[in-house]
Amino acid sequence: MKTTRAMKAKARMKRGGGDASGGAGRLILAIDVGGTKVEAALIDARGKVVGTERRPMVVDGSAADGLRSVREAVDAVLAHAPKRSVKAIGVSVPGWVDAEKGKVLQTANLPCWHNYPLAAKLRQIYGIPVRLENDANTAAAAEALWGAGRGYRRFFYVSLGTGIGTCMAYRTKNEWQFPASEGGHTTINFSGPLCPCGRRGCIEMYASGKAIAREAKQRVASGDAKVSLLKEMAHGNWELLKTEMVVGAAKQGDALSQEILNDACDRLAVWLGNILDILDPEAIVFGGGLAGLFMQHQERIQKTLQESAIRPNAGKIKIVKARFGAQSALMGAAALWLQTP
Ligand SMILES: [Zn+2]
Repeated sequence: MKTTRAMKAKARMKRGGGDASGGAGRLILAIDVGGTKVEAALIDARGKVVGTERRPMVVDGSAADGLRSVREAVDAVLAHAPKRSVKAIGVSVPGWVDAEKGKVLQTANLPCWHNYPLAAKLRQIYGIPVRLENDANTAAAAEALWGAGRGYRRFFYVSLGTGIGTCMAYRTKNEWQFPASEGGHTTINFSGPLCPCGRRGCIEMYASGKAIAREAKQRVASGDAKVSLLKEMAHGNWELLKTEMVVGAAKQGDALSQEILNDACDRLAVWLGNILDILDPEAIVFGGGLAGLFMQHQERIQKTLQESAIRPNAGKIKIVKARFGAQSALMGAAALWLQTP
């Protein structure tokens, strides 16, 4: 029989002598490790945040320095409730992780950890079971349990921000699954711009905050736009152009900015068309800092989807905005333990 991560986790919990998933009064310690800060929170089975603490994250020291930052936030939040009520720990980390082994493999924002067994370290220190996941997966878990993913059996979560994160969440008979994926680095143009990941034309190079800003810089610098609000905003220094400026200028009717955003939407839609034809989700959930922007262009995205996907009625796919914003990773870290059938 195939052993899943969830079964292993259940076996671990049995050995540890407790079920973390249910019951009032039981708390999950959720940790969101970011590039500048660690946030730790105690969250109950209904998703209510009982206490939260933030500490600075030391990312450029040793692995032990990084762990110390996490411990400071955790120790501080543990003061908010009796320690015995805390049943398990969920950790959200940006970047590449091995959830089975509880390891941080590699992440650009946390150079202190490379192949680092963070879950095992925390289990050793606090004596309770630990699950660790990538931040797109934890965000999807929060949406599955308490947010925009409720009521679906499978949905595709895409975090649209500086970069692009993905998670194809699906429900089996007993629980949700959040398999690892790096959909932001699947290409839609193999001769496109070179991505830091080493490949060309990844969707992250077209529809992320980074990409929108880059496009604006390039188009203004190339003299493409004879008249554009962006030129005024940059005062001749194109490097200053930011995604928010493009969004603001587009709202004021700036043709170049509108074109840049339309292009980003069209490319996102072509990519989503591939996703629909391969994974067949019931809904698409937009999360991340640019979710609102792309939601405003929903009609255009759906029209392009209809043309680019083979699936019948692709343009009618439900596109919904994530419920959780800045707290998605933290809530999701708790959701890893609180999912119900
Ligand atoms: Zn890439």
